Amino acid sequence: MKNLLKLIPQSICLFLSTVLLAALYTACDSGLPITAVHTSIANSTNAEELVPKSSNISVSQRTQVPVLCYHQIRDWRSSDSKTAKDYIVPVNNFHEQMKFLADNGYHTILPDQLYDYLQTGTPLPSKPVMISFDDTRAEQYTIANEDLNKYGFKGVYFIMTVSLGRPGYMTSEEVKQLSDEGNIIGSHTWDHNNVKKYSGNDWMIQIDKPSLQLEKITWINNSF
Ligand SMILES: [Zn+2]
Repeated sequence: MKNLLKLIPQSICLFLSTVLLAALYTACDSGLPITAVHTSIANSTNAEELVPKSSNISVSQRTQVPVLCYHQIRDWRSSDSKTAKDYIVPVNNFHEQMKFLADNGYHTILPDQLYDYLQTGTPLPSKPVMISFDDTRAEQYTIANEDLNKYGFKGVYFIMTVSLGRPGYMTSEEVKQLSDEGNIIGSHTWDHNNVKKYSGNDWMIQIDKPSLQLEKITWINNSF
């Protein structure tokens, strides 16, 4: 990973995580939790109930797996602030990063694989890496997915349903295609409201409804 790190500017969140939940609790624009896993967390008064204590030790002893999280993939503009650039990877830089992973024998893994590995020690392929995308940006489909397909990689796309179909963002059909191609579609939350301030109906609006919408989008016309 050392050389890869040289390729990765601050514009990428790089997570060296031994705990899946920690990886999924990473920041996007506002430091918010980003997946449907949060539903379980949110409904539990004690998050430790979700993972038996006896397994915490073994999980922490596993070899770390890098989890990359991308937001915007486009060339920088003069109007982009330094903070904005932290979330924007120039297109050629992204191409170089994917090529580096492929040339150096990395294998992409998906959340279930990481979970099984952390919980039970199920072996992972050599040089495992998880590639994730946040916020539903259109270029994640038009640019990133093309690169992933080129190298036989699979990714995890956290879809913010409020953005679906808007200019600059993916459509429902594109999300469906990503799912059909074997990528994982995760529920981001509806928008970027601060999760720490959720109350009452917010949980239904931010977690339950978007998750159900994504299930409908990805399952439609599937015969299982
Ligand atoms: Zn986000």
